[in-house]
Amino acid sequence: MTSVLERFLTYVQIDTRSDPNSVSFPSTSKQRHLSNQLAVELQELGIKDAHVDEHGYVYATIPSTSEKINVPVICFCSHVDTSPDVTGANVQPIIHYKWDGSDIVLPDDSKQVLRMSEMNDLDQQVGNDIITASGTTLLGADNKAGVAEIMAAAAYLMQHAEVKHGVIKILFTPDEEVGRGTEKVDLVKLGADFGYTIDGEAIGTLEDETFSADAVKITIYGVSTHPGYAIGKLENAVKIGSDIIARLPKGSLSPETTEGKQGFIHPVQIEGIQEKVVLGFIIRDFTTAGLVEKEDLLRKITDEVLANYPHSTAEFDVHEQYRNMKVILDQHPSVIENALTAMERAGLNPIQRSIRGGTDGSRLSFMGLPCPNIFAGEHAFHSKLEWVSVQDMEKSRRSNRQPLPSLGRKSITFTHHLHGEKSQILRSLARTKNGDIYRLERV
Ligand SMILES: [Zn+2]
Repeated sequence: MTSVLERFLTYVQIDTRSDPNSVSFPSTSKQRHLSNQLAVELQELGIKDAHVDEHGYVYATIPSTSEKINVPVICFCSHVDTSPDVTGANVQPIIHYKWDGSDIVLPDDSKQVLRMSEMNDLDQQVGNDIITASGTTLLGADNKAGVAEIMAAAAYLMQHAEVKHGVIKILFTPDEEVGRGTEKVDLVKLGADFGYTIDGEAIGTLEDETFSADAVKITIYGVSTHPGYAIGKLENAVKIGSDIIARLPKGSLSPETTEGKQGFIHPVQIEGIQEKVVLGFIIRDFTTAGLVEKEDLLRKITDEVLANYPHSTAEFDVHEQYRNMKVILDQHPSVIENALTAMERAGLNPIQRSIRGGTDGSRLSFMGLPCPNIFAGEHAFHSKLEWVSVQDMEKSRRSNRQPLPSLGRKSITFTHHLHGEKSQILRSLARTKNGDIYRLERV
């Protein structure tokens, strides 16, 4: 098997959904099915050290073809798992050929409709070929588009020793979608100087900034009594907790009222009885100072509410989740510059932007592997409407040009070049069939 299309179609049909409630690692053993397959395929390409470790990570090394010394070792990283939000079993990929801009109704559930007016970037795709699932599952392009691209790039580089590059490391992680993708990664073994996750959205995007994230847990201890004899005594934790939530700002500082670089305080859990209530929040901002500000506000609200309940107490616990990768990437400007140059040379207009969320790269950057995120063409993540556009990828096909002075740049260019190959194959396959929508046969 050599084509990126075959790889993509095969990988999306392997169920690799992760599980947020599991304590094992990886969270689901079925993720190993894909990891094992990837390691075998890498071995078949001649990558001798390709293997799956005991935690389900795939590591592999494409040897250097350069005589130069001191060439940085770069890593390409994608995750094998898919979101627990939607089932990933029995995925049936479909191509909607030469899309005319009308609603795309998915055949297995007519309630699942891709509409131009409701879907980011879809208005750019009229006339293009759109790949979706069939309506009852996600597609799994997040992140199997990235996996297939890296695998195809590896195949190309292993077969074209004339392409000069330094050592390239490949890393496939489990459990990204449940926030545990970097939990057991061995960066010493990986041995890369910097990396790129290939897990982004629209063509040309480079994401070098993520949220900084904390979780806050407020445990409220009220005073419980028999309700028939509670006068002057009962301090109901349920009411104390509700009061705290009710005093959160209404028109700001929430996910539903913020965008761009604005952060928020977001209650995600309320649980308890009149004696004790636990409130769970996630706090997001692009700076640590902004996080602290929001946590101070939440503390102040809690204190104000508790002032009305003199015998009740509260514990306020802050748990660090991840930090904005830009803090680290700013110390390594060439990591971004190389990627932007590679995209420009591929004929793309790079779009540098921030993510209102986190990636494996957020943690990897702070663990010592500076790691921004590069587009893979994935859209409508974590939903049954997930799609990729063939032509988005094709645009990058023009990237096969003279070698770049930096080997890091060269490698990135080739990743996108091969992504383009994939789309061309998809298109020619599409042209062999009649009709606007059809189901692909399993390859
Ligand atoms: Zn992803």
